Amino acid sequence: MKPLSILAAAKPHGTRLKYLAGCRCLPCRASNARYENRRIYARRSGDWNGIVSAGRARRHLKALSRSGVGRRTVAEISGVPQSIVHQIKSGRRRRIRARTERRIFLVNSRAMNQARLVRADRTWRMIARLLDEGFSKAEIARRLGYRSPALQLRRSRITARTALRIERFYSRYMVV
Ligand SMILES: [Zn+2]
Repeated sequence: MKPLSILAAAKPHGTRLKYLAGCRCLPCRASNARYENRRIYARRSGDWNGIVSAGRARRHLKALSRSGVGRRTVAEISGVPQSIVHQIKSGRRRRIRARTERRIFLVNSRAMNQARLVRADRTWRMIARLLDEGFSKAEIARRLGYRSPALQLRRSRITARTALRIERFYSRYMVV
C-alpha cells in the first residue's frame, strides 16, 4: 500500500486526497473539480503559487548583484528571507514558489534607488520654506499624494522617493 492510500483511507469521501488515491465517486470528483477551478482562477488572476524553476530568479539576482544590489537588500525589499535568496542565488535551491519568484522580480534597480535612505536635512529645509510661504503641512502632504493630512517624515533619514517628491514640489512653487 502506498503512503497516499494509507492517508486517503482515513479521509472521508469528498476530499481531493481521496480523489488522488483513486476514488472517482461523485463527491470526490466534485472536490477535485473545485480544486482545479481554484487553481485555474488563481493562475489567471496572477496569484498562482505553484512550483517553478528557480533559474529565472537566479539570473535576476545575479543581474541585481552586478549592479550592486546584494541579497540583504533583496530580502528587505522582497520580504523573501535572506537564507532563501542565498540558496536561489547559489543554485542550491532549484525550485521555488511562483510567489517567491514574483517578489524577487519586484526588486529592480529603480525600486532600489527609490527605497534607499537619504539624509533628510535638505528636504526639511525645503519644507520649512514652503511653510513660510503659507503652505500648510496638510496641503503639502496632499500634494505629495499622501492619504493622511499628516506630514509623517522622519527627521534624519527618509527614502529617496520622498526626497525627490518634495524637491519636485518645491521647484514647481518656489521659483528661485
Ligand atoms: Zn470518493
